[in-house]
Amino acid sequence: MSLDVQKIREDFEILEHTMNEKPLVYLDSAATALKPKPVLEAMDKYHTTASANVHRGVYKISNDATKMYEGARKTVAEFINAASKREVVFTKGATSALNLVAMSYGLHNLKPGDEILTTELEHHSSFLPWQNVAKITGATLKFIPLTKEGRITTENFKSVLTANTKVVALTHVSNVMGYISEVKEICELAHQKNAVVVVDAAQSAPHLEIDVQDLGCDFLALTGHKVYGPTGIGVLYGKFALLNTMKPVEFGGEMIDIVEKDDSTFKDAPFRFEAGTPPIAAAIGLAAGIDYLRGLGWDNVRQHELELRDYAIKKMSEVSGLKIFNQSADIGIISFNVDMVHPHDMATVYDVNGICVRAGHHCAQPLMKWLKQPATLRATFSIYNTKKDIDALICATIEGKETFGDVF
Ligand code: PMP
Repeated sequence: MSLDVQKIREDFEILEHTMNEKPLVYLDSAATALKPKPVLEAMDKYHTTASANVHRGVYKISNDATKMYEGARKTVAEFINAASKREVVFTKGATSALNLVAMSYGLHNLKPGDEILTTELEHHSSFLPWQNVAKITGATLKFIPLTKEGRITTENFKSVLTANTKVVALTHVSNVMGYISEVKEICELAHQKNAVVVVDAAQSAPHLEIDVQDLGCDFLALTGHKVYGPTGIGVLYGKFALLNTMKPVEFGGEMIDIVEKDDSTFKDAPFRFEAGTPPIAAAIGLAAGIDYLRGLGWDNVRQHELELRDYAIKKMSEVSGLKIFNQSADIGIISFNVDMVHPHDMATVYDVNGICVRAGHHCAQPLMKWLKQPATLRATFSIYNTKKDIDALICATIEGKETFGDVF
């Protein structure tokens, strides 16, 4: 079976809109995915039928809200195959999930002489929290060398893994290169040295079936708005035995056990990490996004996205002067530039043609340096994209080349 893309497109009302009087071509799902009707309806249902706070009220609609919110946690746990829903912490995004690990686990477990292994492929959200922790604790930040293509491999990981390695922070799928990292093998090796592995799954969660138990990672972060859910919600997965020994980083309502004037105790994970009123509607929307995605079937999603990737690479390779930086991308993310045309100039041509494409450093400045590019263009292909979208991209690229390339 393949995806019924026309039917899918009907679920995304925004695709009926125009941008700059042109049909909207959305090729920026790696930045944020569009939201299907069931996600909007699920959040609406919460607001219209049970718009109360969770874990507090003794009245019916508060219990209903709690059931919906905790139901969302169960959906997420199933989505990533966590051993228990106690291993799922709701955060406001992947960034806050990754910061939570760094500020809780990292700050309290690292000391001078310890090593944190990371890569130049990381999104700033996966890298900066550890740069900060290294500065505060005196631990050393080391980089796993990338292959010529820019991949993280087990072989290269082995070359920097030592008895001093305490934390490994790496991306599951690169937001610029679309490469899948060898996470499972890296976890096995890291665990032989008693290091913990923190996986940034912000870009893998929309495209690959994630099984945290099979990967063996200790922590994993994802963000709701890339899996067709709303903004303002993310997830930190952590092995319960680890999570439950970690200290909270935010303090306030509902995360406590007993509060005394001079000391307090806190609830077990995940609640000790969810101080204050949580993003209830957003969590419910995230679960609806996950249900929507899973309902399409992983094989169908993967097949569709790879078909678009192959078509795009073929068509783009026919445009002279267009350089693709990740010919062997494992998912539908293509990073490219066009000779003599600044990526931001090209992006403005796309904009007037109704095409949304990301231009910039993609929150990955170390990788831009590695690529020797100040910035790149990035097109991403998702469940609602078609070959027609790619044809529009190619047409606009040729227009941009003619407009700006001639200047030089
Ligand atoms: N990691 C990667 C690989 C990403 O692409 C992103 C989002 N661009 C993030 C982390 C951060 O996600 P958020 O901004 O939703 O917290």
